[in-house]
Amino acid sequence: MNYKGLRPIIQIIEDKCVNCHRCIMVCPVKMCNNGSGNVVTFHSELCIGCGACINACMHGARIGVDDFDQFIQDVKAKINMVAIVAPAIAVSFGGEYLRFNGFLKKLGVKAVFDVSFGAELTVKSYLNYQKKKKPPMIIAQPCPTLVSFIEMYRPELIPFLAPADSPMLHTMKMIKRYFPQYAGCKFVAVSPCYSKRREFDATGFGDYNVTFKSFQQYLEDTHDRIEKYEPAAYDGPQAERAVLFSTPGGLMRTVERYIADVTAKTRKIEGSPEVYHYLAHLGRSMENREPPG
Ligand code: SF4
Ligand code: SF4
Repeated sequence: MNYKGLRPIIQIIEDKCVNCHRCIMVCPVKMCNNGSGNVVTFHSELCIGCGACINACMHGARIGVDDFDQFIQDVKAKINMVAIVAPAIAVSFGGEYLRFNGFLKKLGVKAVFDVSFGAELTVKSYLNYQKKKKPPMIIAQPCPTLVSFIEMYRPELIPFLAPADSPMLHTMKMIKRYFPQYAGCKFVAVSPCYSKRREFDATGFGDYNVTFKSFQQYLEDTHDRIEKYEPAAYDGPQAERAVLFSTPGGLMRTVERYIADVTAKTRKIEGSPEVYHYLAHLGRSMENREPPG
């Protein structure tokens, strides 16, 4: 990914900033913040889009930027769209998450796919790569924030990133190939993640990145309730194992289906800041190993 000219996915509302520096404290890549003035400013091109500062700011001075406004304008203008929804929807909308599909369809979205099936395709891609190239290590890369971190701050690990599409990308490619009825539709990704937008920019796939938070805000602003929509099943194939993909250890449990002893060969590092600290040391421990050819 070329990070020069990366689009901003975090915004600072300077009027609200009280210069408390909580955002800097939680930021895993401190140097994207400038705390030397009366308010904190930041350099978008050095930000990996993890979103930690949004949750840390108690004053509403940091907000995430997604494509909700453009999405809602276009869907109301009857532009054909297919939505791909991340499994974390079950956390954000609890037991009502199938009603969320009904809500999307009522808005005018033509079909709603679960990204979990794409996650199974991603796992297959990792396994094929491992079988063909036998690399000394593979770093799974379903998360664009971690990919940005490696590309910007730990480039020595780039050769170990799995050369495979993310679950979201795999799902889009599958729809393009096997669902001709949705040809010409735009793709809207629905997830908790702001940094997906940069993945779309880098790959040329994906049209709108909209977070659960924006949908929740929209429902609140329009005095609407998810409970009033009929539940609607996902379109497309159902995932078997990868429904766990976005839960802690979910990727590993999906791979277990193919490699029974994968847990013995895998390091599962999750959570911030642990994952960034781990990656910071990983490059050094791999120094004497050959990167994959
Ligand atoms: S946490 Fe919020 S209020 Fe505090 S310095 Fe950062 S942006 Fe400003
Ligand atoms: S999104 Fe993450 S990397 Fe970017 S400024 Fe906030 S905490 Fe730092």
